[in-house]
Formats: sequence, structure tokens, C-alpha cells
Amino acid sequence: MGLEAVLPADGFLTTQLRKVVNWSRRSSLWPMPFATACCGIELMATASSRYDLARFGAEVMRFSPRQSDLMIVAGRVSIKMLPVLQRIYLQMTEPKWVISMGACASTGGVFDNYAVVQGIDQFIPVDVYVPGCPPRPETLIEGIMAIQRIIDQDGLPPAGKRRPLQIAIEPTYNVRPQPVPLTVGHT
Ligand code: SF4
Repeated sequence: MGLEAVLPADGFLTTQLRKVVNWSRRSSLWPMPFATACCGIELMATASSRYDLARFGAEVMRFSPRQSDLMIVAGRVSIKMLPVLQRIYLQMTEPKWVISMGACASTGGVFDNYAVVQGIDQFIPVDVYVPGCPPRPETLIEGIMAIQRIIDQDGLPPAGKRRPLQIAIEPTYNVRPQPVPLTVGHT
């Protein structure tokens, strides 16, 4: 880890147990991917070599809720699917966090109809909202880093009733103009 290079062979460190626990917790988030649509592809891209989520210790996607502590809901959730989402959330270990990735998970997105949940935060507590349709991997990474910062500050969920942190990530890019002016019809 590089520490051995700066410490003498018999050196030692002192710290607080709380800081070590927080450090290990923030450095080993295990995501539970609840990817239902196109945002799921960006989630896969985030974990792949170009963006390398392993740099943040969060690359170990778990498909078993009992081994996960970070749920990433990526994509729209239908009313039929909602009981599954809730059950998986309840089965995850404490302390746990939830990221709502993309417009569909946070608001229903363009699917403003009776079959799609209009925001998962109506049914499970959401800690970080990642905007976009789809969000770029950098924005999702920013959302994961927001959770890491909360853990660093002892921001563990209190025992008992779960209170969502409700952090909204700002987009990290500027919308660029069209490279070619759009024309409609014949000129
Ligand atoms: S927010 Fe956009 S990219 Fe993500 S699931 Fe919805 S439609 Fe697809």
C-alpha cells in the first residue's frame, strides 16, 4: 500500500478505531446492481477498464443482497418490479446506502405512465441522486465518492428507522452545442 516504503521496518502507526472502520468501509463498498434499462450499460462501463471503479474499491458487484451494502438502481422500475426492489433492499446488510442513477430511477423520466414508478424514493430511502439520461460514468463515480465522504464523516445511518441522505450530484460536464446547425425541411 506504499506505507511500508515510508515507515521503517519496525515502525508503527496509531489511529482511532473509528477512523480505521470508516476507512475500510468506504474503501470496500460492494454494489448491488439493480440495472433494468439503458442506465445499466453506463453502470457496466463504469466498472470496466476505462473508468475502473476498482480505484474506489467498489468494483465487486454482488448479486446477492446479503453481501452488498450499496444499491445502485440504474433504470426505470415498473410497478410489477417494485416488490422485488423492496425485498432486495430489505435483505441487504446494514449499514447500507442507495444511489438512484438516472432520470428514470429518480423521477420516472420520460415514462410518465401508470406502469412505471415515478421515483424510487417514494418506496425506498435514496441517499444520492445521480442526474442524467443516462449519467456519464464520471457522474456515477462522483455519486459513489459522495457516499465515501459521508462515511468519512461518520455519516452512518442511525440504527432503527432509516433516514435518506438525499444528496443530489451536479452534472460535471457542459452541454455542447450541435456541431452542425439543424435544419428542418427543405432549404
Ligand atoms: S434515464 Fe435515460 S438512459 Fe437511464 S434508463 Fe432512463 S431512458 Fe434509459
